[in-house]
Amino acid sequence: MNKTELEKHKAMLEAKRAELSVGLWNRADIAIEKTPDALDEVQLAGERELAIRNLDRGSNLLRSVRGALARMADGTYGICLHCEEEIKPKRLDAVPWTKYCIRCQEAADRHEFETESAETLDELLANAA
Ligand SMILES: [Zn+2]
Repeated sequence: MNKTELEKHKAMLEAKRAELSVGLWNRADIAIEKTPDALDEVQLAGERELAIRNLDRGSNLLRSVRGALARMADGTYGICLHCEEEIKPKRLDAVPWTKYCIRCQEAADRHEFETESAETLDELLANAA
């Protein structure tokens, strides 16, 4: 991967990281709101659940983005973490935070090998501070 491509992916990753970090810190939606109205409470619970689900998805993505930036810093960006082959530039253009080449990603999706264990959300937020 040449320097121009690397810079391009870095910019994409940093933009994504900024976008996700803002979203993660916006946790007010999850705060438990007290309401005397039972119907409101049901609705609020639903909204809260949705917010938590979004947060979960966002935190997974943010972890991948931060991992990719770390690999960029240590010069291993664009190398598959599983088979250590170069990841195709096209794939990196589409998913700049990917850890795996397409073959290994498919294997990971089928749970053919252990992917790295997930940090909890609290750890993630602590690290983002
Ligand atoms: Zn691979």
